[in-house]
Amino acid sequence: MYRIEQFLNLYFQNRERKLLLHCCCAPCSCSIIDRLLHAEVRLTIFFYNPNIYPEGEYNRRKHEIVQYAGKRGVAFVDVDYDPDRWLNYVRGHEMEKERGVRCSLCFECRLLKTAAFAAENGFADISSTLGISRRKKLEQVTDAGRRAAACYPGVTYLDYNWRKNGGVARMDEIAKHEQFYRQQYCGCMFSIKPYPK
Ligand code: SF4
Repeated sequence: MYRIEQFLNLYFQNRERKLLLHCCCAPCSCSIIDRLLHAEVRLTIFFYNPNIYPEGEYNRRKHEIVQYAGKRGVAFVDVDYDPDRWLNYVRGHEMEKERGVRCSLCFECRLLKTAAFAAENGFADISSTLGISRRKKLEQVTDAGRRAAACYPGVTYLDYNWRKNGGVARMDEIAKHEQFYRQQYCGCMFSIKPYPK
C-alpha cells in the first residue's frame, strides 16, 4: 500500500471520501489526481487561476487540464477568468519577489474561492496542487489553504505534502508520458522570466 493511502485512510476515517481539489495546471496536478483516484477518493477539480497571464497562456493551461480530467473521468468545475479581481487582490505588492507577499495573496485569492465553492456545494474537504512544485514555498500554500478553509465553517484544508513518497517522480513520469506543456514561468505577468536551468 502507498503511504499516501494510509494517510488518506486515516484522514477520511469518519468523513465522506470526497475532495474538491484546486488545480493550477496539468503537470502539477497529474500525480496528485492519480494518487487520489488510486485511493478511491471521489474527486472534483476546481479550476480558478485568474493570476495566469496572458489569456492565451491561461487557455493553454486550462485546455490541458480539461483534457486530462476527461481522460481520467474526473468532474471539472471551470470558474470564470477574472484577472482584474486578482490584480486588485495583489495590488501594492506587484514588485515583490517570487515567494514573497504577492504569492501569499495569490494563493489566498484562489483558495478562498475554492473554500467558498466547497461550502456552497457540500464539500467538507479541499486541497490544492499549488504546493507540489519545489519552486513554491509549501508553507505559504498550506497557510493560505488553512486560512481560506477557516473562513467557512465545516470546510477543512487537507494539507498533505504531495511532494513526499515519490510524488514528484510520479509527476515527472506522467507529465512525460502525456507530453504535457511545461510552462517556463509561474503564471502572473510579474513572473514572466524563464526559470533558471
Ligand atoms: S509568481 Fe506565481 S504564485 Fe507568485 S503571484 Fe505570480 S502567479 Fe502567483
